[in-house]
Amino acid sequence: MRREPILILGGTGDARRLAERLVAEGLRVITSLAGVTTEPVLPPGEVRRGGFGGVEGLADYLVREDIGTVIDATHPFAAQMSRQAYTACLQCNVPLYRLERPAWTPQPGDRWIDVASAEAAALALPTGARALVTIGRKEIHPFFARTDIGGVARMIEPPAEPLPPGWEVVLQRPPFTVDAEIGLIRAEGITHLVTKNAGGRETEAKLIAAHQLAIQVIMIARPAKPETLCAAEESMLAGLLLREHYP
Ligand code: NAP
Repeated sequence: MRREPILILGGTGDARRLAERLVAEGLRVITSLAGVTTEPVLPPGEVRRGGFGGVEGLADYLVREDIGTVIDATHPFAAQMSRQAYTACLQCNVPLYRLERPAWTPQPGDRWIDVASAEAAALALPTGARALVTIGRKEIHPFFARTDIGGVARMIEPPAEPLPPGWEVVLQRPPFTVDAEIGLIRAEGITHLVTKNAGGRETEAKLIAAHQLAIQVIMIARPAKPETLCAAEESMLAGLLLREHYP
C-alpha cells in the first residue's frame, strides 16, 4: 500500500474530477494550482497555489510533504511543469502518472491545418481573416501584432496587452455548447478557428461547429512530454490507484 497524500498537479477539469473521485474514497489529496487564474474552480481536498521553484523546489516539496504518488493532470500544453515533475519524481523515487485526454484528430470533411506554435498559427492566417482564437491569453501577442486580421480572442482572464483595432475579447470559461459556438461564429463573421489540440469533450464543441459551418481550423499541435504511464480518463486512473495502490 502506498503513502498518502497523493499530489495532483492540476489546472484542468480532469484534475478536478480526479480529486473529486479520490477524495470521495476517503484519500488525502493535495491539488497544486499554478496560481495563474485569479478565481479558479477549486477541487475538494487540500489545495496549494503557486510554482514550486523548479525541479529542486518540487523535489523538496515531495520530501517535505511525504508525497506517496504524483499525478500530472496539467494541461497538455503545460510542458515545463510535466518535464519538471518527471525529473523531480525520478530524483525522489516517487511514482508518477499522467492524466491526459487523447489529442483530437480530424474527421472526414474537417478542414484542418496543423501547426507547431501560436506564432505559426498567426502566420497561417490570410490577410482579411476574422479568427476565433481560443488559446488563452499568454500567447495572444502574435495575433494582436497583425494589423491585417481581426476577430475574437476568447480566454478566461483579460490579456495583459491593449486590444488592437478589429479585435474583441470574450471572457468565458468552458464548457461551451455547439449551438452557442455556431451562434458566435456566425454573429462575428468568423472565417478561421485557431485552437490548441487540448483534446477532451469539454472544449470540442467549437470543432463540431467549425465542421458544420465548414470553417478552416488552425490546430496547434501538442508539445512533447516525457514518457510516463498515462491514462486518458480520470475514472481509469482512479480505478487503477484504488485497486492496486490505495485499496
Ligand atoms: P508550464 O509552462 O508548464 O509551467 C510554468 C511554471 O508554472 C512551472 O515551471 C511551475 O513553476 C508553474 N506551474 C505550472 N503548473 C503548475 C501546477 N499545477 N502547480 C504548481 N505550479 C505550476 O505551465 P503553463 O502552460 O503556464 O500552465 C500553467 C497552469 O495552467 C498549469 O497548471 C496548466 O495545467 C494550466 N493550464 C494551462 C493551459 C495552457 O494552454 N498552457 C491551458 C489550461 C490550463 P515552478 O517552476 O516555479 O514550479
